[in-house]
Amino acid sequence: MDSLTDLIERAADDLANSKYAIALSGAGISTESNIPDFRGPSGIWTTDREAEAKAYERYELFLADPKAYWEEVLYTRYGALYRAVGQAEPNPGHRALAELERDGVIKCVITQNIDGLHEKAGSKNLLEYHGSARKLRCISCTSRFSIEEFSFELLPPQCGKCGRALKYDVVHFKEPIPQDVSARSEEEALNCDLMLICGTSAVVYPFASLPRIAKRHFGGLPSRPYASEAKSATKIIEVNAEPTPLTHEGVSDYLIQGKTGEILPQIVERVKDKLRQEPG
Ligand code: NAD
Repeated sequence: MDSLTDLIERAADDLANSKYAIALSGAGISTESNIPDFRGPSGIWTTDREAEAKAYERYELFLADPKAYWEEVLYTRYGALYRAVGQAEPNPGHRALAELERDGVIKCVITQNIDGLHEKAGSKNLLEYHGSARKLRCISCTSRFSIEEFSFELLPPQCGKCGRALKYDVVHFKEPIPQDVSARSEEEALNCDLMLICGTSAVVYPFASLPRIAKRHFGGLPSRPYASEAKSATKIIEVNAEPTPLTHEGVSDYLIQGKTGEILPQIVERVKDKLRQEPG
């Protein structure tokens, strides 16, 4: 079995040799910024089952009664995750991905996280697949607004462009992924030759289909137009505290097991060394 150092070296080689690398991230990259994940031992749902049940009803609540939705999100313990993210700061894992983008190695970050920490760390070409708790979105005209623009004295807040009730940009259960973000994410997955997946259990769909799209490896999943294509040569690297379905099903080429805040900065250092050594 390869040692941690060998795996970090391998990932740095693969990244340095890639033409179009992208990164995917999930709640695990933000646990070192003190934002709990959902399904880890101290996860939000592991410790509060009622919060999970409420989360499943939230989109329907918005459609039925936007004012009641905002009262729940702003004032009850069920909206705790959204409020917690306001205080959080990026950690070395977020900063490492931003640095790889600045160095031209990573072309895009697609995150499931709603905490806005990739943006705060300096990632530029960023797709927030499940939206952002720092933004509000109009589900009619798709306009997005910074949360700073609202005082929330009058509920629900209204869209400055079309006047309809705004919801959090955060995508809730039973809510479709915004079309612009889902189309661009799928395109990035189809185009990349390396995908670095950081801190996700890879069980939440459709996000978890992105590595399968990159690899053209669908297992028992419903077929897609390109499902018949041969398995692609795209490299898939996971950095995660534990193995995931992607590890077990051979979608990823290898797993670097451990904390993203410790492993990603080491990968960046080794990539930088390799780029410095490149002739020209
Ligand atoms: P998840 O909770 O299902 O899985 C997190 C994974 O990361 C687990 O496999 C865990 O072992 C691993 N992990 C935890 N800490 C780690 C660390 N320091 N380094 C490496 N790995 C670590 O999260 P998910 O797959 O992102 O799915 C949860 C959904 O909930 C997402 O859709 C996301 O939108 C939302 N969510 C977001 C946040 C956030 O914005 N920070 C927090 C909780 C949940």
